[in-house]
Amino acid sequence: MVIYSIGHKNPDTDSVCGAIAIADLENQLGNETIPCMQGELNPETKFVLKKFNVSVPKILTDGEGKKLILVDHTEVSQTVNNLGKAEIVGIIDHHKLGDITTSTPLEALIRPLGSTCTIIKQLYNFYDKVIPKEIAGIMLCAILSDTVIFKSVTTTLEDKKVVEELAKIAGVKDIKKLGMEMFKVKSAIEGTSIKDLVLRDYKDFDMNGHKVGIGQLELIDLSLIEKIKDDLYEEIKRMKGEGRHSVFLLLTDIMKEGTEMLYVTDDSNIIKKAFNKKPEKKSVWLDGVMSRKKQVVPPLEKAFS
Ligand code: MG
Ligand code: MG
Ligand code: MG
Repeated sequence: MVIYSIGHKNPDTDSVCGAIAIADLENQLGNETIPCMQGELNPETKFVLKKFNVSVPKILTDGEGKKLILVDHTEVSQTVNNLGKAEIVGIIDHHKLGDITTSTPLEALIRPLGSTCTIIKQLYNFYDKVIPKEIAGIMLCAILSDTVIFKSVTTTLEDKKVVEELAKIAGVKDIKKLGMEMFKVKSAIEGTSIKDLVLRDYKDFDMNGHKVGIGQLELIDLSLIEKIKDDLYEEIKRMKGEGRHSVFLLLTDIMKEGTEMLYVTDDSNIIKKAFNKKPEKKSVWLDGVMSRKKQVVPPLEKAFS
């Protein structure tokens, strides 16, 4: 039976390219696998697939009756509908372990590295399989995206080593230049609705029984969004009204290496508890904070517990 590899909701470059790469490896190993994604490509991922001439995965939102390899997530809130009626045969991820459980044994690989694609590169090595040039290119981009071109605290030595190796296979000479090209595309907001901007890299979490949404925009300059900040705020306020305890939007300045966090919450003490900083009325500046996974989710979960 065919297997589907699939990343999280509101797919990012790592979850799309990770699904494509693991599908390639599984196919090389004789396990027929089709890469999928849970929604449309974001502009950055679109740019990456086009650049390396890789076809766009099909959209899959319902897991019923399917064999799945989950990529870049282990949270029920981030996965396909009807996961309970699917068979999870594999998980490959680099986040904290979420709340997904299985009823059958599975292959699971979770490592605290900068991106899922770093782990997949290690798997290619483990099985002694060759990475096609175009797949090496998109994996390289996924690592640069997730590690914010190595600026994020999530970056490990292994990510840097793997990027060097992938760049050689893909024929990429200037890694930094490619990374900045991607982040320029990522920073472009023209022609995107406010709602789509908030959802571009958005995840829901269950924190001690509270539904908490955290979105992130990684920008090369925060002044790019100065004019629409109030609209972004109104949108997260609306989303909070859909039954969430809090919604946070991280406006991350990748050059200044910090985040302005917009928030709407039932309890602003949570922010004080989590970040030891008194928030302004609608936002708080978090110096040095760039990673949702490592610098935002853990202190918030602690504050909620
Ligand atoms: Mg991701
Ligand atoms: Mg990732
Ligand atoms: Mg990210």
